[in-house]
Formats: sequence, C-alpha cells, structure tokens
Amino acid sequence: MTQDRPIEVVPHPEAVAILLSQHTGAICKPLVNKRDRVTVGQMIGKADAFISAPVHSPVAGIVKDIALQSHAVLGRELAVIIETDPQADTAILPACDHFKASFDESAWSAEQICDAVRNAGIVGMGGAGFPTPVKIEPNPKMPRDTLIINACECEPYITCDYRVMLEWTHQVIAGIKLARRVLGCKRVIIGIEDNKPRAAEVLREVIGPAGEIEVVIVKTKYPQGSERQLIRSLLGRTVPTGGIPPMIGLCVLNVQTCAAIAEGVVLQRPLTHRVVTIAGRAIAKPGNYYVPIGMAVGDLVQHCGGLTDPAARVILGGPMMGMAIADLSTPITKTSGALTFLTRQEVTEAKFQQRQTACIRCGRCLTVCPEHLNPTRIAHAVKAAKMDIAQDYYLTACIDCGCCSYVCPAKIELTGYIKTGKVLLARQKKTIPS
Ligand code: SF4
Ligand code: SF4
Repeated sequence: MTQDRPIEVVPHPEAVAILLSQHTGAICKPLVNKRDRVTVGQMIGKADAFISAPVHSPVAGIVKDIALQSHAVLGRELAVIIETDPQADTAILPACDHFKASFDESAWSAEQICDAVRNAGIVGMGGAGFPTPVKIEPNPKMPRDTLIINACECEPYITCDYRVMLEWTHQVIAGIKLARRVLGCKRVIIGIEDNKPRAAEVLREVIGPAGEIEVVIVKTKYPQGSERQLIRSLLGRTVPTGGIPPMIGLCVLNVQTCAAIAEGVVLQRPLTHRVVTIAGRAIAKPGNYYVPIGMAVGDLVQHCGGLTDPAARVILGGPMMGMAIADLSTPITKTSGALTFLTRQEVTEAKFQQRQTACIRCGRCLTVCPEHLNPTRIAHAVKAAKMDIAQDYYLTACIDCGCCSYVCPAKIELTGYIKTGKVLLARQKKTIPS
C-alpha cells in the first residue's frame, strides 16, 4: 500500500505534546515552565539516569502546559505541551542531502560521537526505544565483535524504514560508519529481507566493492525483524533468555536509528522528527510521512485526508505488535514507526475479534512462539494477578510478536494479557509510575 510512496514532509501542527517518557528507562525531568518560549531543537526534558534520553522541541513556540497526556502503553504520562508560534517556527526538512558517498567518519572521535548521540536524545526507533548511547558506548565487560543493522521490516503495512533506505541511503550508511567507529566492531552486517531487493541494491551500490559492510539477505517471515530472531538467522547465535545482544558480543541498531545518529553527530541535530508509515484501508491518503515528534494522531489523520470509515480501529504501530488507541490526541513518539487504520469490516472479519471461548489446550500458541514460551500459562497467571508465576514462565522474555493471539482458535488475547502483565510487573518494581 505504501512502499512506493516517497517520504512526504508534514507541516508543523498548531501544537505538539512531547511525552517525557518515550524510551526505555527513567522518565525525563522537564527543563521548562508554563509560558516559557522554546526554540526548534531546544532540550525541554533532561535525562538524569544512565538509562534515559533527553527530549527536544520540534517546533518554536510557547509552553502551554506540562500535563498528563495519553500514552499508548502507559495510559497517561507527563508531557510538555507546546503551542507553535508560526512567526518564530521554521520548517525542519530531512537532512539526507548533507550526506555523500565520500563521508569520512574518522573526523569524529568515539567520545565526540557518544556525546552527540546522548545529547541528541537518540533511542532505538524500531520500537523498543532503548537509549542508543548505552548500546554503542564501549563496555569492557561486554565487548562487541559484530554490529548488526536491522533492515527487516517484517510487520505487514509498515514501509518507513524501506523508504529511508531508498531515499536516505548515504545518511544511513554514514550513521552505520559512526556507530562502528565507537563500537570498534570487526564485522558489520545489514540484515534485510528478500522482499526488499531494491533497498538491498541501493545499499550495496553506496557501500561499494570494498565489502567492509555486508548486506545479507534473509527470508521474509514474521517476526524476522525482532532482534533475537534476526541474530539467529544471520549468525546462528542465541541471546540468553532475559538477556541482551551485548552479552554475546553483538550490537543491533535499526535503520532509522542509524540515520538519526548521522544527523545528531554531523549536524548536531536532536531527534525531533521521524518517518511514520500511515497505512490501512480506513485512511484517505496512506503514505510515508516525515512527522514532528509530539504531533497528535488526530492532526496526522487530518493531514492525510481524514478517515474513510468512521468506525475504523486506530493502531499505533502495525497490526501485529501495535496498540489500539482510543484517544486521537495521543502523540507520536520517537518509537512510533506506523499508524494503521483498519475498517470496521476488517476488524469484525478478523477472527480474533470474535467471541473469546475457553482454552481448548490445542498447543498452537506454544508451537508458534518464536521464544518457545508457554503463552497460555503466562496469560492465566496475569489474569489471576499471580505475577510470581508469570515470571516463573518468563513473562518478560516475550517479544510481543502477537503470533500466539493470531493462531489461537479460542480467540484468547494472549499477547494482550502478557503486555498487561509486563506493565503490572514494571509498576510492582517501580520502574514505571503506577
Ligand atoms: S507474543 Fe506470544 S508468541 Fe510472541 S513471544 Fe510473546 S508469548 Fe511468544
Ligand atoms: S492456542 Fe489458544 S486454545 Fe490453543 S492452547 Fe493456546 S490459548 Fe489454548
């Protein structure tokens, strides 16, 4: 639906809401007060903890409020709401034209790159939102031998990374080179699915014959884009359950994250905009849009010509891993790669929308789980609020792929229960506010 639609710049809306928690780790502390004037790119939320990332304003304007705002995962979360001042505001355009094939990363030291990435508030833009500096900074306890670039966009409907690879190729490669310089990895692999031959071709053209960055084609299948699955496909290595890739000498970065690294380091530009795929039969003008972070979903819907079906379901993300949202004031965050708009017919036709019945113990959910978990046991434990049992069944090892819900003949929303369980557990451990 959107793979052939070039990235289109969305004009800044009248107001944005910058959530202070749009990454893994500690929430930011606001640096501004009500009625303060802010400029484009100004840091408005400070990261105090090691695992956190600052947030910046994508527009110039006046702070209208610092208040609770809809958050797709956490329900409501604190946000800085900024009213755009059209007199002071300037349009921010993609920076791809600044990057050429001759890009030389040796002009920056590893320290300079790390500082720039930290100041720019860069986090994993593939969905997890893990602060990028923590991933790339040297760690003598966990040396990384291989950098993997996740170019698999395995979820249906989503094409934002595909367009970034096609249109911002030099910028992506520049970001990869900068990350490699910090990590000191001997090997760099771009893992891309076999349904994206054009992207693989342009990447290979820009890399050139030197072969210092490998482009490896993997099978198109879901959830190939999950880092654990991609690592297995590319290298046959397994990240320990509950562990992270650096434990086995790897660093995995998403394509748009690499583009953001290049922008943050070379242009000192913070992460204030991202490419979002707007797709689904219920939206008038699907496409790939360059959107200011903090723009409300409702404003984006208006920009895309409105809904074609008033009863559409709005999903922040793709149909497998996304979260259905009821409030169109929910803002786009650094990790929002897509918005999927389904028609009422599509939703009611989908078997998972039919009435839930009791588990028939068919075991299909166990068969499909890429992490070899027992989804039904975890879901039952969460339903009974037995979080200790849910943990015994490795609740936190679930990658939220949605495969178990998709195949369940009893239409049990297993992934929904598991996601709820993770939020409950995080609240118990006080890693997120209750
Ligand atoms: S969502 Fe279901 S299938 Fe996917 S990893 Fe979690 S438990 Fe396994
Ligand atoms: S797929 Fe559904 S019905 Fe089958 S065992 Fe899992 S939860 Fe039960």
